[in-house]
Amino acid sequence: MRKRILITGAAGFLGSHLCDRFIKEDYHVIGMDNLLTGNLRNISHMFKLENFEFYHHDVSKFVFVPGKLDYILNFASPASPIDYLKMPIQTMKVGSLGTHNLLGLAKAKGARILVASTSEVYGDPNVHPQTEEYWGNVNPIGPRGVYDEAKRFQEAITMAYHRFHGVQTRIIRIFNTYGPRMRLDDGRALPTFMSQALRKENITVFGDGSQTRSFCYVDDLVEGIFRLLHSDYTLPVNIGNPQEITIKDFAEEVARLVGTDCKVIYEPLPTDDPKQRQPDITKAREILGWEPKVGREEGLKITLDYFKSLPEFSM
Ligand code: UDP
Repeated sequence: MRKRILITGAAGFLGSHLCDRFIKEDYHVIGMDNLLTGNLRNISHMFKLENFEFYHHDVSKFVFVPGKLDYILNFASPASPIDYLKMPIQTMKVGSLGTHNLLGLAKAKGARILVASTSEVYGDPNVHPQTEEYWGNVNPIGPRGVYDEAKRFQEAITMAYHRFHGVQTRIIRIFNTYGPRMRLDDGRALPTFMSQALRKENITVFGDGSQTRSFCYVDDLVEGIFRLLHSDYTLPVNIGNPQEITIKDFAEEVARLVGTDCKVIYEPLPTDDPKQRQPDITKAREILGWEPKVGREEGLKITLDYFKSLPEFSM
């Protein structure tokens, strides 16, 4: 009998890669998505498979899944600053009500649930690099607050279900991740820079570009999730690539890779944009034996090939 896993946010960037991975591991994968920010293009290749099924459903409403369930991966949420500015209420509802529904489902089915948290729980961090023990520096009422606080609530209710109901829970804190299937128009740095370079437009760096991020290739992240799900560890674990870069240098790196002579132009820094971000991955190394394998040069090349293959860019 195949293990049965529910993956929410299945048509999104991370969700679709997780579906691929668990199908490859011979699980029966039940994908769920309301397609608010997800795209069926990411999972259309799975529809012909006998060990994949798809439910078009919003997890903020009661979630019904027939039959047994061994695992749940909760990856449903708008996840870019532009998206949660456009969809603040849905972002709050999916992180809170959606997580509550999925924890209830995990409890009812006796399933193990892994929830996708984020480096955003650290806000604009005063501790660098960020360890899991750091409680963060979040503005609850700023534009990013809808995402940050929903994710912090998600962690709190997940720990409550673990401690009070004995549900088997896992929490991953995901740092900036990139790769094929990122949405072109989600406003994130990488798809924005790549599409601007491909269209020979100016590259828009926000602020003076001195803010830093640390970018992890999606396959590395998926491996970390796979290992965490199967570990015994119930406290949050950072998964990300500690290789840190300023956004200005990152924009120039992308432009060089695309090979166009683009000009970098500077636009105002969005409110509460974190000044620095780098994961401390000591826990992931020690507990999961995990560390990233794919460097930016290799990962960016694969991602560029993907963008070039899209109808938007192929001539
Ligand atoms: N950024 C930028 N130009 C863009 C999009 C983003 O300079 O066109 C900056 C953004 O202000 C942030 C960094 O790139 O400092 C990473 O942004 P992203 O939205 O990818 O992720 P997050 O802010 O959530 O880390």
